[in-house]
Amino acid sequence: MNGAFLNKLAGILPADALLSAPEDCAPYASDWTRTEGVAEYVALPRNTAQVSAVLAACNEFGVGVVPSGGRTGLAGGAVVGKSQLALNLSRLNQLGDVSQLARTVRVGAGAITQAVHAHCENAGLTWPIDLASKGSCQIGGNLATNAGGLRVIRYGMARKWVTALEVVTSTGKVLELNADLEKNNTGYDLLQLVVGSEGTLAVITQATLKLVPLAPDLGKAVCLFALKDLGGLPYLFEASRKGPFEILAFEFFSQPCLEAVRTKLNRQSRLSKEGNYYVLLELAGDKPREGWFESVLAHPGLVDAFLAESSEDRRQVWGLREGITESVALTGRVRKHDLSVPVAKVADFLADAEAAALDFSAQMKLYYFGHFGDGSPHINLVAPVGVTAPEFDRACDRYEERLFPLLQKYRGSISSEHGVGLLKKKWLSYSRSPEELHVFRSIKTALDPKWILNPGKVFDR
Ligand SMILES: Cc1cc2nc3c(=O)[nH]c(=O)nc-3n(C[C@H](O)[C@H](O)[C@H](O)COP(=O)(O)OP(=O)(O)OC[C@H]3O[C@@H](n4cnc5c(N)ncnc54)[C@H](O)[C@@H]3O)c2cc1C
Repeated sequence: MNGAFLNKLAGILPADALLSAPEDCAPYASDWTRTEGVAEYVALPRNTAQVSAVLAACNEFGVGVVPSGGRTGLAGGAVVGKSQLALNLSRLNQLGDVSQLARTVRVGAGAITQAVHAHCENAGLTWPIDLASKGSCQIGGNLATNAGGLRVIRYGMARKWVTALEVVTSTGKVLELNADLEKNNTGYDLLQLVVGSEGTLAVITQATLKLVPLAPDLGKAVCLFALKDLGGLPYLFEASRKGPFEILAFEFFSQPCLEAVRTKLNRQSRLSKEGNYYVLLELAGDKPREGWFESVLAHPGLVDAFLAESSEDRRQVWGLREGITESVALTGRVRKHDLSVPVAKVADFLADAEAAALDFSAQMKLYYFGHFGDGSPHINLVAPVGVTAPEFDRACDRYEERLFPLLQKYRGSISSEHGVGLLKKKWLSYSRSPEELHVFRSIKTALDPKWILNPGKVFDR
């Protein structure tokens, strides 16, 4: 890195806020995907003024800068390239007062999601974005990726739950976007443009989050179902939608996922019979009214069900679903896809995706899980024991040549929630037209004329 640039940084940041020792920088080089990165320098600013000065310096010297949060991302968005500066927001972790009147809270971008939940719980409120990585991911990362999570079916994605953002542009300008307004029809919505832009348009430094009451009966009843085949999924989803309750989560996973959670994390299912697929249904309120369970279980596609009523049982059932990402990663080399198809088509799409994989079954195994109720199936390709990395990678490449055209046929998206980052850039044309990508590039150039913000992520110049 240029010596004059480093001198400038040293003048902006105190010594403990600029890391350069390889062992200190190494943890910031990549994200949860462990994609190879090279962080030579890491800036850890304490406030917006420092973020602004760092970005102005990067812009002046044309240095690429990679915004980084909890690095739990699953698309390689926070992976640092050669001669780029990692800009980690962890120290901007202030938690402001909760406003009962507005039902909002102002927090720093580096606040850990779970810490925000705990902070708001004291006031009987919560930020309704909940994901298995909540103990490490940050609000800035959640908003930059427009995170989804486990209760999208009830609450929607992160972009619905923010009323203001403080952001810093590539030239170091600090902008306050939307100023906490619920309604604001004064031209382009810049706040929503930044949400989901994966650090390519601006760096988020603060956010005002919208909260919901932490109703005492929320998530009291959690049911786990075992299903014989994929056909049981749309049946159970429709029956649940018609049920006399509100659905908070409708998550699914396949038998290999359950097996991975059992063997790698030693968590047990409470069902007495095995299925090929499983559904976790969480309801608002108490257990389903008398008779609902019995009528649903009469369907030949359903094998077994367990109703978790105590908090320990509920924790155990959720532990199966929340442990999948971690346990699958412990099973072998993984390639992850968070796809999106119309809700009514998920089961058909999965059946076709399964059929397309038959030719490669010796080199890769499919693990399905995800947010069925949002049309968001995750397909993880996993290397069986004994298959070498090149053999696995070749099989995945060839399978993906079938999977993505199939997804296009279903008018799906290559990413439902994890974002495009580095890893899914090559498939973006399956979801976005050349005309759309032309508009993307114009917007990028308008906000980041030197293209210094998260270079090489989402799309290329
Ligand atoms: C076990 C597990 C479960 C998960 N479950 C879900 C799930 O259910 N739903 C879901 O949507 N995701 C899920 N994820 C993915 C991940 O947790 C989310 O994408 C999360 O929002 C990323 O937050 P982060 O702070 O870790 O961001 P990082 O990984 O650090 O960064 C992600 C992207 O955001 C950018 N960024 C980070 N902070 C800022 C900032 N302040 N300003 C501008 N850009 C910034 C980065 O440059 C990068 O492009 C899961 C991950 C794991 C490991």
